[in-house]
Amino acid sequence: MSETLKNPISVKIGQSISLYGRITELIENNDEAKWLIQELNNLVDESESIRQMIGMAKECEDCSMSGSGCCGKDMENHYGVEILIINLLMGVNLFKGGHNKDSCYFVGEGGCILRVREVICVNYLCNRIYSRIPLKNIILFQEVSGRGLDTLFYLEEKIKNYILCKIPENAVSHEEK
Ligand code: SF4
Ligand code: SF4
Repeated sequence: MSETLKNPISVKIGQSISLYGRITELIENNDEAKWLIQELNNLVDESESIRQMIGMAKECEDCSMSGSGCCGKDMENHYGVEILIINLLMGVNLFKGGHNKDSCYFVGEGGCILRVREVICVNYLCNRIYSRIPLKNIILFQEVSGRGLDTLFYLEEKIKNYILCKIPENAVSHEEK
C-alpha cells in the first residue's frame, strides 16, 4: 500500500495546515509557483464552467441527491499533503467535510469541498454521464481538466521537490513526517 493510502486524512490535514504558513511565504518569493497557482485557478474555473454548461454538474448533483454518487467512503485517503496545501492556498476550508460517515470525508453540504482534486476524482466518469452527455462535450471537458491535472502535477512536484526542501529539516516535527 502506498504512503498516501496508509496515512489517515486527519493526520494529513494537520500536516498541511502546519506547513501552510511556511509554504505561503516561500511561494511569495517564487514566480513560477505563483504562476502555476494562478494558472491552476483559471483552469479549475474553466473546467467547472464547462461542467455546468454541458449538464454534467446537474447529472452529478441529481445522482448524489439520490444517494448513488461515486464519492465513496475512504476516497479521501487518495489525497496527499501537497494537494491539501494547494487547496488551502486556494482558500478551501478543509474542516468543512465529514458530513456523511458513509461517504468520502471531503463531501460537504454542497458536494465536494475541494477546489483541486486528484486524478482519480477528475477522470472518473460513469455510464450515466457517457449515456447522457454528448461525447464531443465530454471531450471538451476532458481537454480542460487534463490541462488542470498537468498543472497540478507540476505544482505538486514543486512543493515536494523544491519548496519543501527549503524548509529546514528540524522545522518539520516528527509527527508531521
Ligand atoms: S460521475 Fe456518475 S456516479 Fe459519480 S456523481 Fe456523477 S453521475 Fe453520479
Ligand atoms: S470528488 Fe471530492 S468528495 Fe468526491 S471522492 Fe473526490 S475528493 Fe471525495
